[in-house]
Amino acid sequence: MNNKIARFLAENSPETPCLVVDLDLIAETYDVLCRYLSVASVYYAVKANPAPEIVAMLARKGSNFDVASPAEIALCLDNGAPAERLSFGNTIKKEKDIAFAHDRGVRLFAFDSAGELEKLARKAPGARVFCRILVSCEGADWPLSRKFGCTPEMAINLLHKARDLGLDPYGVSFHVGSQQTDLGQWDHAVGAVAQMFTLLAETDINLRMVNIGGGFPAQYRGSIASIEQYAQAVTAALSRHFGNRLPEIIVEPGRSLVGDAGLIQSEVILISDKGDGGDKRWVYLDVGKFNGLAETMDESIKYRIEAPGRSGAPRPVIIAGPTCDSADILYERTEYRLPGDLEVGDKVEILSTGAYTASYASVGFNGFPPLRTYCI
Ligand SMILES: *Cc1c(COP(=O)(O)O)cnc(C)c1O
Repeated sequence: MNNKIARFLAENSPETPCLVVDLDLIAETYDVLCRYLSVASVYYAVKANPAPEIVAMLARKGSNFDVASPAEIALCLDNGAPAERLSFGNTIKKEKDIAFAHDRGVRLFAFDSAGELEKLARKAPGARVFCRILVSCEGADWPLSRKFGCTPEMAINLLHKARDLGLDPYGVSFHVGSQQTDLGQWDHAVGAVAQMFTLLAETDINLRMVNIGGGFPAQYRGSIASIEQYAQAVTAALSRHFGNRLPEIIVEPGRSLVGDAGLIQSEVILISDKGDGGDKRWVYLDVGKFNGLAETMDESIKYRIEAPGRSGAPRPVIIAGPTCDSADILYERTEYRLPGDLEVGDKVEILSTGAYTASYASVGFNGFPPLRTYCI
């Protein structure tokens, strides 16, 4: 475990469950990303972890922000990020939320449909707009599927329509899926975008921006390539398809920027078996699907879990959360082992939980409060 987080936990013994986030580590990761992916401007995807301390720190470092709602816009503005540094990246916006953003100075908006363009033309006239295209998301542990984006052919028509409606057809975006483990995915997507640039230039629409989305990983179980390798793959794809006529590039990291900087400390509430001869013990923690670990849905994200202070031989376990909902099982099919001498009351640590945990916690299902975050 990260020394700074270990010291904080030892000195403060906070109530569990809680998420502890190391701000210095996020700052360092931000710097690494900027260094290796120097062709791109970073827009932090606020939904990954909207703690005001994180937003304020990144704003001080000059980051831009990908926001999805009026509350995220207000959060950024209140924490030092001016409207010029915000991108309203959600393709599904209420008309009054577009007006809210535009009133506060936001001038960059995503869309992927004709209906959304019409709303934008009414409430954000003249704004820069970019069209999100569908990509396969193959190789992603948390795919974003067909909910977002349209085909490149349709995107071309919509970008024409954007101009006809008095908007500024500015660029194209995609997202290859979150926790994307296949570095080749960016090459396919960038290739499709470059083709669109060429086709649109023939009809006098000169796009100026490519938004390559998120998708870089955090360190869960299983090995991943380094940020440097991801940055190299993306940079190579961009120069392969755009040569030396590189447009403005936007990258929107969420998970990779904050994931590894967080640790959830939890406590064992109960250890039991079912009397049915099953060889796995059940370990119930005070954190589960409804108070921070939503991404264990379908056992998609496989966190590293440790029981510090116990050294007994590892035994297979089923790990579950504290609520009275049978969906609140974290890992049943995936093989997990915890020390055989684990006892009720022991602390259990869930690593790389800085992204998509606190922001996914329910308001109080079964009376369990949302996950408390300490930014240190
Ligand atoms: C969620 C999201 C991101 C962040 O994705 P990660 O895989 O967490 O890096 C980036 N862009 C958009 C539009 C998103 O919705």
